[in-house]
Amino acid sequence: MAAKKAKGSSEKKSVKRYTYYTVSGNTATTTKKYCPNCGPGVFLGEHKDRVACGKCGHTEFKE
Ligand SMILES: [Zn+2]
Repeated sequence: MAAKKAKGSSEKKSVKRYTYYTVSGNTATTTKKYCPNCGPGVFLGEHKDRVACGKCGHTEFKE
């Protein structure tokens, strides 16, 4: 694992290239990930430091 970044005050608003938001049509949504186990249509739930599937329990930790 790479070194963890400090949480909280490290926002880089000018770096749009790596934004976590995407605009689709007239709706701005987070770029949620699909569950690799359940497939497209089943999003991973957003948590503070991880995303988790509510169906199968698959969890991915954020960096
Ligand atoms: Zn799942």
